[in-house]
Amino acid sequence: MKKDGILTWVELSQSALVNNIKTLARLASGRMMAVSVKANAYGHGLPEIVGLLKDRDEVAYLSVHSLEEAVACRQSGWKKKIMVLGPLPLADTAAVTEFELEPVIFTREALAALGRISDKSKKKIRTHLKLETGTHRQGITEKELPVFAALYKKYPYLGKPLGASMHFANIEDTTVHEYAEYQLKNFNRLVKMMAGLGIKPKIRHTASSAALILFDHTRFELVRPGIAVYGHWPSKETYLSYRLEGGANNIFRPVLAWKTSVTQIKDVPADSFIGYGCTYRTTSPTRLAVLPLGYYDGYDRALSNRAYVLIKGRRAPVRGRVCMNLMMVDITDIRGVRLENEVTLIGRDGSEKISAEQLADWQGTINYEVLSHISQALSRNVVK
Ligand SMILES: *Cc1c(COP(=O)(O)O)cnc(C)c1O
Repeated sequence: MKKDGILTWVELSQSALVNNIKTLARLASGRMMAVSVKANAYGHGLPEIVGLLKDRDEVAYLSVHSLEEAVACRQSGWKKKIMVLGPLPLADTAAVTEFELEPVIFTREALAALGRISDKSKKKIRTHLKLETGTHRQGITEKELPVFAALYKKYPYLGKPLGASMHFANIEDTTVHEYAEYQLKNFNRLVKMMAGLGIKPKIRHTASSAALILFDHTRFELVRPGIAVYGHWPSKETYLSYRLEGGANNIFRPVLAWKTSVTQIKDVPADSFIGYGCTYRTTSPTRLAVLPLGYYDGYDRALSNRAYVLIKGRRAPVRGRVCMNLMMVDITDIRGVRLENEVTLIGRDGSEKISAEQLADWQGTINYEVLSHISQALSRNVVK
């Protein structure tokens, strides 16, 4: 569904998003859900996804990385809760109170900065503590916890921490889940310790998509899915583990399709080099379509001479290097291609399909990176 004046665009399926939210809400069975819209909603477009989630009762929270993203959620009309997962700029945490955000805290400096703000405004701030259980990225260690408890005492207007959280290090990448169990044990121990220090959390949350899908005992009071909301499995291993436990197929549907247009058609003779570096040479007379996007738009250069796109329901291989703003595909064997015909980069066309996972395989990365790299500048069209 193309709009006039646009050659490359992203399509978002509202019905797929609703399907995924309902599936996740069923898995969460009554727990609160914090949907991750960081990284421009995993490349889908933050304002569009927030617009679609706004009126869904299943979604109590959005989670974001930065204060800027949190403000963008408010500007897109989100009135419910927002959890900020990433670091706060210490010199200016005012947005936390101004936009009623719930920061996840892992440094004493950030907690003290919020303490000073609450002292001045005499207003409570809803905070969550991130606990170190084995990821060694952001968490607060057992040794540090008393310092945080003391800060809550020092700044009484802050109130007690509302939540305690952790993040799994090795839950997507394997079908063996011993490390996740080890982390959970650490989490439960630290939460008990918080209670002993007089800062017992009301909401415990640990579950990203993979944990939510696979393990009931990671769900606690709130779950934090990201990738599955958009209809993608966190990994093949998560999918396999789920299916081995007897889980149903097709419980998620991809929300995003990525489209562009044929903007030039040219016939080149046998033995012609195509594109930068002369990495491809034709062996017979060849018809090429030039497409108006490249690595600037998020179509990775590693896809050069490797991927294919779909035109008229058929595969057109990428020839030569992907350029900054252009790329060439082979349409020699596809009849009747005309200027501005639709081209599918991710999505379905007839009986053919290209998934974000397929592009990730070709690029040597994961679906998360492929999706989040799709340029924010491209226009997003919501299909009802
Ligand atoms: C991104 C993120 C999530 C969501 O992870 P998915 O694998 O996309 O479901 C959950 N929790 C934290 C702390 C995150 O950073």
